[in-house]
Amino acid sequence: MAVLVTGGAGYIGSHAVAALLEKGEQVVIVDNLYQGHREALLGGKLYEGDLRDADFLSKVFQENEIDGVIHFAANSLVGESMKDPGKYYHNNVYGTLCLLEEMKKAGVSRIVFSSTAATYGEPERVPIDEFDRTVPTNAYGETKLSMEKMIRWFDVAHGIKFVSLRYFNAAGAHESGSIGEDHAPETHLVPLVLQVALGQREHISVFGDDYSTEDGTCIRDYVHVSDLADAHILALEKLRQGGESAVYNLGSGNGYSVKQVIDVSRAVTGHPISAKIEPRRAGDPAVLIASSERARRELGWTPRREKLEDIVKSAWAWHSANPNGYQK
Ligand code: UDP
Repeated sequence: MAVLVTGGAGYIGSHAVAALLEKGEQVVIVDNLYQGHREALLGGKLYEGDLRDADFLSKVFQENEIDGVIHFAANSLVGESMKDPGKYYHNNVYGTLCLLEEMKKAGVSRIVFSSTAATYGEPERVPIDEFDRTVPTNAYGETKLSMEKMIRWFDVAHGIKFVSLRYFNAAGAHESGSIGEDHAPETHLVPLVLQVALGQREHISVFGDDYSTEDGTCIRDYVHVSDLADAHILALEKLRQGGESAVYNLGSGNGYSVKQVIDVSRAVTGHPISAKIEPRRAGDPAVLIASSERARRELGWTPRREKLEDIVKSAWAWHSANPNGYQK
């Protein structure tokens, strides 16, 4: 039996593939390689193609004995989703519909879904728990929420059980140093800060220092990508053991400000890292911190790399050894 990982050549997907391989699982990967990297796969059987191509996807299910799916394949840039929501509905929502239809046809009844804290929008309170209201403030978050809801109806009608994992801020890299984050364009704070340390960027822009937080910059909950990967495996195990469908937040429960991230990166890299205060970025809530109590309790998930310093250290090991990412 094999696990199908869609989007397995992407940042979080590739770390999940690595974790599955470490557990001795057979892994089949579907990725169109628009954002993903072939080099990010440490093993498994890659099918290069798109979820929206029904003949292609049906062949993947026919040629392999799939007992569960971990679904990452999606576009995930907030800014882009506001300019081109159609792209997000087509790839994310329609792509998920194609996947679910194929699972139904093949009789595969377990899916672990890569969701996001962006489903909540502006939080009413922090830490955020899974029962808080979901009012996304951007099209990306809205499509992820739609995908969650679609999966729920396939559960009601066809018994496809799901675990939806809503991540907060994924960061860091695999402990081997052989895979890590490589987005083009890069928009995330940790890799951008490290690009300044590498001399690839003059300064880091701090998007607003007038928020109602202690140092005025936004606070986020950074969670190590390998801890996220582990949660997917626990979620799949829960479904294999007949567990009920569920939604879980994944975060470390600790909040760090943008200034704290820069300070920790200075300490880790030994570089001065110049920073410039700039206007706020549209749609950024002041504070996003997860309550992951439910995942800890019900999945037995224990993040092992909770300290921001350790997360940045692992990211730095990857970026300093691979300054151009997967491009040699
Ligand atoms: N941020 C920043 N400068 C950058 C990129 C991000 O100040 O060049 C801030 C952003 O406003 C947010 C935090 O860093 O408060 C984390 O942003 P990121 O894009 O990494 O993740 P998000 O929280 O948007 O998912």
